[in-house]
Amino acid sequence: MREQGISSLPRNYELVYRFLNTSNPALIREFAALGPRPTQPQLDEVGLKFLPHLHQERAVDNTLESVFEEMRKMIRLFRQDRSMLEKYSDLLGQTSARMSRKGEISLDFLDDLNRVLSSATADTMEKSKAIIGQMVERASELDRLKSELEEYKRLSSTDPVTRLSNRRAFDTRLAAIYDSPETAARQALLIADIDHFKTFNDTWGHQVGDRVLSTTAAIITRTLGSETFVARIGGEEFAIVLETASVEQAQTTAERLRVTIGSTPFRDHNDGVDHGRLTISLGLCMAADASSPAHLYKRADAMLYEAKKSGRNQVRTYAPKMKRMLGLLKR
Ligand code: GH3
Ligand code: MG
Ligand code: MG
Repeated sequence: MREQGISSLPRNYELVYRFLNTSNPALIREFAALGPRPTQPQLDEVGLKFLPHLHQERAVDNTLESVFEEMRKMIRLFRQDRSMLEKYSDLLGQTSARMSRKGEISLDFLDDLNRVLSSATADTMEKSKAIIGQMVERASELDRLKSELEEYKRLSSTDPVTRLSNRRAFDTRLAAIYDSPETAARQALLIADIDHFKTFNDTWGHQVGDRVLSTTAAIITRTLGSETFVARIGGEEFAIVLETASVEQAQTTAERLRVTIGSTPFRDHNDGVDHGRLTISLGLCMAADASSPAHLYKRADAMLYEAKKSGRNQVRTYAPKMKRMLGLLKR
């Protein structure tokens, strides 16, 4: 990196490391096109495209720094206001001391006093107004920074292709299932994976594949309702946390999703080309039938594997041994 004049910033290390280990032709092409001794803005432009999370972290750091700067300004303003009010209060104190020392209060003295106090009051009010004005400005700047941070927070948990929650948000949601016995008793994990998606991509191209991923995401959200937690946790893999009263109800929902996706024709909005239909395989496990988030994931994933192995386009549900023996559950 030194030979190429690339400074030893962590984000540069990550970009170079990614370049040296990638098979992504776009990254190889764009990095190579930078030529020898790329500038930092050039590196950042490529980094922003291929490692957006790094740049997001940097933007969050910048915003946080602005928040601290605004707070420092606020504190300075509070101090200014306080010292000004202290001066005003000193002046009142001195005046009252002078009044109590004067045996006889002359009209001239009262005139003097009136002038001094009016001018000090007007001056203090003027300065105070200016300080309040500046505080209001700082407060609205803080509000703006807060929305900026909220937007970063949203982006850090959102998948850019489908606008669903991403893997990171899913990990948090999964962990919350076992927060209480009540949630663990009425939630289930469903993992869905598009069948033969590699063939679809090879036939129609990656861009069409991406559009199909976002259409699939929209179908899932529409079928299950926007209250249901849905995440894209891998290339063509989705995780769904179902609120459900029973395993039968969860199975019915999973089945409805399978049929809806399988019967949706994927047609290109731009050129009207018919891309045919896609099917999904699903693995289901009730939270109550596992003992921890990792265990639940493992069981639902094992069921997805079973569904794939048994011919795809089907739902497989984890059943505890006892129920399996009694044949109480549909597969
Ligand atoms: P299976 O039925 O066993 O799931 O087969 P599959 O082809 O769907 O699964 P496999 O894991 O072999 O391939 C997944 C494919 O998904 C590979 C890649 O072409 C595609 N893919 C992964 N991520 C993306 C993405 O972000 N966009 C697009 N367009 N395709 C992706
Ligand atoms: Mg697949
Ligand atoms: Mg997959």
